[in-house]
Amino acid sequence: MVSEHKRGARFNKLRVKPGEFKKQIHWLNKQGFQFVFASELATKKKFANRTVCLTFDDGYADNLAAVDPVLESYGAKATLYLVEDRSGGWSSKKKAHHADNELQREPKLSDDQVRTMLASGRWELGAHTTSHANLSSLDDEQAFREIAGAKKTFENSFGIEPMTFTYPFGIYSSRDIDLVSKAGYLAAMTTEPGIQSPDKWNLLQLSRVKISGKDSLFSFKHRIRGGKRGFAK
Ligand SMILES: [Zn+2]
Repeated sequence: MVSEHKRGARFNKLRVKPGEFKKQIHWLNKQGFQFVFASELATKKKFANRTVCLTFDDGYADNLAAVDPVLESYGAKATLYLVEDRSGGWSSKKKAHHADNELQREPKLSDDQVRTMLASGRWELGAHTTSHANLSSLDDEQAFREIAGAKKTFENSFGIEPMTFTYPFGIYSSRDIDLVSKAGYLAAMTTEPGIQSPDKWNLLQLSRVKISGKDSLFSFKHRIRGGKRGFAK
């Protein structure tokens, strides 16, 4: 999310303040970073040394209200990993004690808002399962439905077939990688921290650099410059 922090909230780490987000994009732009969509990681042959793929998971309404205007002013672009069913408290279900409704109350994008974003040319649509399921708790058939289902539904709703995927909670097994491939996705994002080089990457297990709502601009720069590189596999 890109939003102000809420008093006493448990998930403020997931909320990058709008002023901080703007500073981060301003810095990337000033450093000469080229912004790419996730599908370009699989389809482009060459990348500028400074290339960044911005990703937003789940489908919070602030992605349009607070992220999009910043993308517009810097000529940047981002990939939206949308959950098909955005009505429930899914994004906090990883652990039973997270079953409060802080994230459930957070407004999510409507289909019309997603259409507005896609029409701008600044957003690419990616899939993040049907119900934000923990794939490790599902049998093969259920897991395939979660992974492949959003592909068809999004094509019907938005006229665009998502070509990339993110694993909910970053939880996945070799079975899930096979199912992602079988569903026809070209690339998939994990939550493994790390910077990627095209000569080494595994497109179905891409690492990412997580930006926390508690990061200063200094720690943002450190992460982008490879502060997490030592943890990459
Ligand atoms: Zn998620």
